[in-house]
Amino acid sequence: MIIALDGPAASGKGTLARRIAAHHGLSHLDTGLLYRATARALIDAGERLDDEARAIAAARGLALTDFDEDKLRGREMGEAASIVAAIPAVRAALLDMQRAFAARPGGAVLDGRDIGTVISPDADVKIFVTAAPETRANRRALELAGRGEKVEYAAVLDDIRKRDERDSSRSSAPLVKAADAVTLDTTNLDIDAALSAALQIVADKTAGRRA
Ligand code: C5P
Repeated sequence: MIIALDGPAASGKGTLARRIAAHHGLSHLDTGLLYRATARALIDAGERLDDEARAIAAARGLALTDFDEDKLRGREMGEAASIVAAIPAVRAALLDMQRAFAARPGGAVLDGRDIGTVISPDADVKIFVTAAPETRANRRALELAGRGEKVEYAAVLDDIRKRDERDSSRSSAPLVKAADAVTLDTTNLDIDAALSAALQIVADKTAGRRA
C-alpha cells in the first residue's frame, strides 16, 4: 500500500505521515528532507542556491540514511529548500530515489508537495493536508521555539506565505491537490483528531479497493 500526503508547510502532514506509517507498519519518507539536505549541502560548500549544476550534483550525492535532521529543520532551511526545489533538474535528480522508496515491498507513506501528482500518481491513498496560514504559522513558531530558535510569529507567518506562493507557482511539480486526493483540513483539529480522520480516509479508500 502506498499512501501519499501532500500539503503546504506546517499543515501537519509530516507528523500525520509518521503516525500513519507507524499505525500500519509501513516505511515513511519525509521528502522535504531531500530538498532541505540538497540546500544544506550547497550552503555548507559555500555555493549559491540557484547554481543549477551544483544543485543537481548535491541532489545526486544524497543518501537517504545520512540526514542530520537537527541541521535541516531550522527556519532558514525551509526557505532554502524551496529555492532549490523550484529547479526542475533538481526535482528530476531526486525522482528515482523517491519512487524506489515508494516501491518498497510492503508499501510506504511519503509526504511532500508532489507525491500524489508526480512521484506516486497511482498511490492507493492520497490525502491533501491543509490548514489556515495563521494556524500553520502558530504551529511552526512553537516547533521552532521548541528547538531553541527565537522567532517572531509575524516573521514565521511571512515565511509561510512566501513559501506557499513559491511552491504553488513554480512551473515544475507545483504544490497542487491531486484530482483524486481527499482534503483534510487540520485548522481546528489537534494531532489525535487529525490522525483519526486520516486513518478513516485510509480505511475508506482501501475498503473501496477491496469491494
Ligand atoms: O515539507 P518541508 O517544509 O520540509 O519542505 C521544504 C521545501 O521543500 C518546501 O517548501 C518545498 O519547496 C520543497 N518540497 C518540494 N517537494 C516535496 C517536498 C518538499 O518541493 N515533495
